[in-house]
Amino acid sequence: MERINPFNNALKQLKESIAYLGLDEEYYRRLSTPEHIIEHPVTIVMDSGESKTFQGYRVQFNNALGPYKGGIRFHPLANIEEVKTLAFLMALKCAVVNIPMGGGKGGVQVNPKNLSAEELERLSRAWVKVFFHDIGPDRDIPAPDMYTNPQIMAWMADEYSKLAGHYTPASFTGKPVDKDGSEGREFATSQGGFYALTELVKKMGMQTGKIRVVIQGFGNVGYHAARILHEHGYKVVAVSDSRGGIYVEQGFNPDHVMQAKRERGVLVNAYCHGTVCDNIEHKKITNKELLELECDILIPAALENQITEKNADKIKARAVVELANGAITPEADTILDQKRIPVVPDVLANAGGVVVSYFEWQQNLENKKWTERKVLNKLEKIIKKEFNNIWIISRDKKVNLRTAAFILGIGRLVKAIKR
Ligand code: NAD
Repeated sequence: MERINPFNNALKQLKESIAYLGLDEEYYRRLSTPEHIIEHPVTIVMDSGESKTFQGYRVQFNNALGPYKGGIRFHPLANIEEVKTLAFLMALKCAVVNIPMGGGKGGVQVNPKNLSAEELERLSRAWVKVFFHDIGPDRDIPAPDMYTNPQIMAWMADEYSKLAGHYTPASFTGKPVDKDGSEGREFATSQGGFYALTELVKKMGMQTGKIRVVIQGFGNVGYHAARILHEHGYKVVAVSDSRGGIYVEQGFNPDHVMQAKRERGVLVNAYCHGTVCDNIEHKKITNKELLELECDILIPAALENQITEKNADKIKARAVVELANGAITPEADTILDQKRIPVVPDVLANAGGVVVSYFEWQQNLENKKWTERKVLNKLEKIIKKEFNNIWIISRDKKVNLRTAAFILGIGRLVKAIKR
């Protein structure tokens, strides 16, 4: 896939919403400019004894609603434009789900697959050392993102606590449950997406037992989305990872695929080798083919810029739920609108992660532990309420759901800036 400057896409959408809200140009300038762009080299000693330096980033976009909040991504292609865009989307996302948090994002340009577990721990701790004065429970609270996970957050919170001189679990969210993480955080992004999807399905009059779902990506978000949907009677017919995907006409249990992937490493080689699905007809497909499959719901849950002007016309899904950040470009949005394919945009579809991160932060600050039921009930209420708010704006103003979400979020941000 080509690299498209994702920040320009976000700005285009911001400009449109400012115009819809009839706001002064000044708000465009204010909301298109990150408050802090921080870059530090992060140096670690490799297992070989040599030193190696990686580029580290943190962008603090806007804190009008509360402390900056957003993930840290370890990825070979991580760069400042991408981190800026994701930080902007975090500010908007927190506003869309109406939580008192601002937008931030971080990254390290590194391929974590090339690091040993010890090197990964050293890198995580080194990131905290160099960014220590920029973050903190009242200032900026990072969380996991692509190729970072609860264990990495535990190392980071531990390092932060050492440097602060006291135990500070509220410095990072997305930690393991036994290290002051929240119940439900691991699958919160997918669970939130599921709540949004169920509202959309109701509006579109689809019948649960017959809904065919295709999911791109089989990491944290993609796998849990597949698992939750399967558990609720949806038919998951295709999933993929970076090496390609599988398609099974009659649907399959994602847990069987996950088990086989864990045993064999790669999804396309994992399926149907002595597992329960040996007798089921299945097909290996490319990621390009997966996106163009006939289905009811398509869920991009891997990378940005997957549905562009080049393939949007070939999308055959009846609706798209954008779990990955920035998976659809503005040009593709226009084409999907023309094809009358509704899109639940990333800022709502994947906001479950930040909502439960906010719950984790609250629990840490109050030294409390909520049950999974309590976490999920509160999450469900928020996502369903904001989905319906966005739906109403979209009908009233005759705009798509993304523009409606921007109108809702930008409206709340501007109100916070004015106070
Ligand atoms: P992850 O690292 O756990 O999984 C990423 C998945 O994408 C893997 O299965 C990987 O194989 C696959 N992938 C990578 N390159 C691909 C390619 N070229 N084609 C197809 N698949 C490819 O990451 P994640 O946490 O599941 O995040 C996925 C997306 O969701 C990202 O856009 C992330 O920003 C977004 N997101 C995640 C969270 C969260 O809580 N984890 C919250 C909000 C948004």
